[in-house]
Amino acid sequence: MIRKGNKLYSIVAMKCPRCHEGPLWRSPLYKLKLYDMYENCPVCGLKYEQEPGFWYGSMYVAYTFSSGALLIVMLVTLLVLKWELPQVFTAVGITALIGFTYNARLARSAWLNLVVHYKPDWKKENEAIAQYKNKLREMGINPDETTTLLTPAHHGYESSTGILH
Ligand SMILES: [Zn+2]
Repeated sequence: MIRKGNKLYSIVAMKCPRCHEGPLWRSPLYKLKLYDMYENCPVCGLKYEQEPGFWYGSMYVAYTFSSGALLIVMLVTLLVLKWELPQVFTAVGITALIGFTYNARLARSAWLNLVVHYKPDWKKENEAIAQYKNKLREMGINPDETTTLLTPAHHGYESSTGILH
């Protein structure tokens, strides 16, 4: 069984890769608002867009997924089902049309899962980061403006939390 804690679960169920609870998408797929994504995880607060332009890379993932899926449809209809070529291309075309929206979302989910990992103790981590930010504020530094001070190298948090960006 693929369940919470498994990376594949997070990718396919399209959950936040950090807590595996919060959803990625605000609206269901059939509403066709393709990239209607939460800015932060509604549960643990992870910022989904890890850096400006983060989602561009997911297009390569989408391309890989769709090429693979279409190739499988082509091979199965052609070699296993022994369909004629026009039928084969119709099947490939229909798969491409139906799969396009799901694939675009799946690719973002997979892309985000490449850099953010499951943290069951995300609450502790959030508290530690909040404390650290408070310390900075006491020193007269605005932690939301001085992002350079909040890089993982400075205080040992893993960059995979994402909320430091
Ligand atoms: Zn989360």
